[in-house]
Amino acid sequence: MVRGNAKKMSPEFLRGASFTRYGTTLYVGIGVPIPILNLGLAKKTAIRDDEIFTNVVDYGVPRRDRPVLGQVSYKELKSGSITLAGKRVRVSSLSSLKIARKIAITLKKWIEEGEFYLTSPVERLPFDTIFKPMRQTEEVSFVANVMQKAVTCKEHESLQAVAERIVTQSVNHIVMVDDNGRLTGIVTSWDITRALAHGKTVLAEVVTRRVITAKPDEPLETASKRMAQHNISALPVIDNEKRVLGIVTAEDVSKLLGR
Ligand code: SAM
Repeated sequence: MVRGNAKKMSPEFLRGASFTRYGTTLYVGIGVPIPILNLGLAKKTAIRDDEIFTNVVDYGVPRRDRPVLGQVSYKELKSGSITLAGKRVRVSSLSSLKIARKIAITLKKWIEEGEFYLTSPVERLPFDTIFKPMRQTEEVSFVANVMQKAVTCKEHESLQAVAERIVTQSVNHIVMVDDNGRLTGIVTSWDITRALAHGKTVLAEVVTRRVITAKPDEPLETASKRMAQHNISALPVIDNEKRVLGIVTAEDVSKLLGR
């Protein structure tokens, strides 16, 4: 049931907004009165914020079935921070709780003063309504589309064996994995050259342990930016268990852009 005319709405409850790379949108304050017979029923039917759960969705992935990063309760969301993949992330609401309360109080007052009655719907949506989601206008490439099989090594191998692999496989990056295929480091031809310059001969002294990675369902654009930001030319692609699925290199990205 809708009672109101958006054209006559107070601007306090109707605001224009604009989001970077999304476009313009509208904030509309809506109050929905729910008829409940008595206090006992209200108590029984009410649910608390810690009983309402929602998914945290990665909006950085510009496609309709965006990856779900986790589930949180409204209580956590209202607390100002949530924990995602072991990391504390600050959160805040995009809609205003203060205005929502004001709407609820106004509606309550109208009902108490006999100004607001439940009425029949002004108009129903036709039963055969078909909702058409907006078309995606831009084709997006994902890491999974360009990643290659990663050439790997193990912790116990010699520096020479890794150097040989770089030559025979004609790659610049060797991904170090454990026995379960989980990422433990990265060695590049640059590292081998530097090792030679500094007279280092042990793989453990040469390998980079803090590896910057990508996810397969991540847009290529964000992965490419991450490489530029860290001045590196490849990202091992891993799953949620840190298992190596492949590698994406700056070269592969340039090839795709050049096509
Ligand atoms: N620009 C060159 C390149 O792209 O390899 C060299 C500079 S880069 C700072 C060299 C260092 O970055 C090397 O020690 C290498 O092990 C490290 N490195 C390369 N890829 C990496 C990645 N995905 N995560 C973390 N370190 C990485």
